[in-house]
Amino acid sequence: MPHVITQACCGDASCVYACPVNCIHPTPDEPDFGLSEMLYIDPSTCVDCGACVSACPVSAIVPGHRLSDEAARFADVNAGHYPEPGPDTARFPVRADWRLPMAPISKPKRLRGATPDELKIAIIGSGPSAMYAADELLKHDQVRITVYERLTQPFGLAHFGVAPDHESTRTIANLFDEVARNPNIRILLNTEVGKDVSLDWIRQTHHAVLWAGGAPTDRPLQIPGIDRTGVQSATSVVGWYNGHPDFALSTPDLGTERAVVIGNGNVALDVARIFTADPERLEHTSIDRTALTALRGSSIREVLVVARRGPEHAAFTLPELIGLVDGPAHVWVDPAELEGVTSEGIEDTTVAAKVDLLLELSRRPKPDEPFIRLSFGYTPQEVLGDDRATGVRFVKTGTDEELVIDAGLVLTAIGYRGRPVPGLPFDDAKGTIANVEGRIVDGDTPLPGLYVTGWIKRGPSGFIGTNKTDSGETVQHLLSDAEAGALPTPKTSPVHS
Ligand SMILES: Cc1cc2nc3c(=O)[nH]c(=O)nc-3n(C[C@H](O)[C@H](O)[C@H](O)COP(=O)(O)OP(=O)(O)OC[C@H]3O[C@@H](n4cnc5c(N)ncnc54)[C@H](O)[C@@H]3O)c2cc1C
Repeated sequence: MPHVITQACCGDASCVYACPVNCIHPTPDEPDFGLSEMLYIDPSTCVDCGACVSACPVSAIVPGHRLSDEAARFADVNAGHYPEPGPDTARFPVRADWRLPMAPISKPKRLRGATPDELKIAIIGSGPSAMYAADELLKHDQVRITVYERLTQPFGLAHFGVAPDHESTRTIANLFDEVARNPNIRILLNTEVGKDVSLDWIRQTHHAVLWAGGAPTDRPLQIPGIDRTGVQSATSVVGWYNGHPDFALSTPDLGTERAVVIGNGNVALDVARIFTADPERLEHTSIDRTALTALRGSSIREVLVVARRGPEHAAFTLPELIGLVDGPAHVWVDPAELEGVTSEGIEDTTVAAKVDLLLELSRRPKPDEPFIRLSFGYTPQEVLGDDRATGVRFVKTGTDEELVIDAGLVLTAIGYRGRPVPGLPFDDAKGTIANVEGRIVDGDTPLPGLYVTGWIKRGPSGFIGTNKTDSGETVQHLLSDAEAGALPTPKTSPVHS
């Protein structure tokens, strides 16, 4: 029975390199790697060796015969990614260079050329992109890293973003802990660059600075009434239930029967799931205890997740939808909203599978327990109310037909955006630090010793593992600049002893 990748896939691609028969795709070298909703095992090529299981940092790979009921659909999802095997089917070549994975004895490599004996690198932020960059840099024995992290806990959104009930995804922290144990890296927590220490000083004391500060702000929704009490961003709610210190006071008003979430990406689903979950189930997760107490007293019966466009344009990923449909959450779609909708003729198999699942949900009875309702094709016009929100007025997208939904809590979840960093050039259109493949640029000119990675380099997209390839690209340029003697020499005495 072949192995199967399940929803906890972080896209890290360690499994791809461990696989002896090249049956896991897309690989980081394939064009759809950054766009794919997860990685997939080809069941007709998998030899069931289990090498990928040991390599996966979040325990997302399971032998087919051990799939839980909740994850059973992933067998079809993995298989559905590949054409039916047949004599004319072009298969991916088996890798000739493969050997059994051994204990990871990674001998540090020595950088050549003009690299100094101690190459001092500062990384700003300790999220996934920072930790993947550090992992790659530490393969070279001249490298000394200081990580500056403004919070008192490391690992960015891997700690403060990933939902508490996505327990296996959160185990990525074990991998980052391992990186942090290397004697050539130190992590300074509670140290904000730009406040506790200046970027200028860091530049003066290191050969290179790698900015990995993430994209921490919400894309704003600009409609009348958005400033009313009872309206807040999904980001603030995620921070609140994950114990992020910036959002300790962002307690949502749970004394209402209905909450509306505007936007339907994975973050919208995370929040809707947590709001409707049985608190007893959350008890055993890492959820913030104050948030859990508040959720125990919640009056919310329905979380309405509303998208502007139709089901074939749903922003959430297929693995997240499967987790919702087959997991403990109660989910419903009003059949009237899907009248005439079919997956027939949709060429993209992932989109077709999402539409089929939504149709399946529309055939379920409306739940009696607190539930999530997925709604499509409504554009928000105004948050209604006086001093506080009482509902949202929508129009059916592309028409004048109005719909008013009563709700005492309105959450916006339409995406994230990077913030400018004083002293670094910013690309306002993209919401990123201006860069070419991770080298920070002013116009077309690279700024010596300045690099960027992660969400603030490419924008807020992809999975935790997407940052690995992204950071690999930046690190490659940083190291080749070191070997070419293109890095500035620190002016003050070394900081790393
Ligand atoms: C709500 C949510 C849920 C998610 N769930 C999943 C999931 O289940 N699975 C998955 O694969 N991906 C998930 N993701 C995506 C994943 O979290 C991101 O791809 C990843 O965290 C981006 O990494 P990053 O290092 O660029 O940024 P971040 O993770 O945001 O890290 C940035 C770090 O920089 C620090 N920092 C910022 N400015 C400064 C400064 N001036 N000085 C010092 N430190 C600073 C911040 O405190 C933070 O720790 C989720 C994202 C969100 C928002």
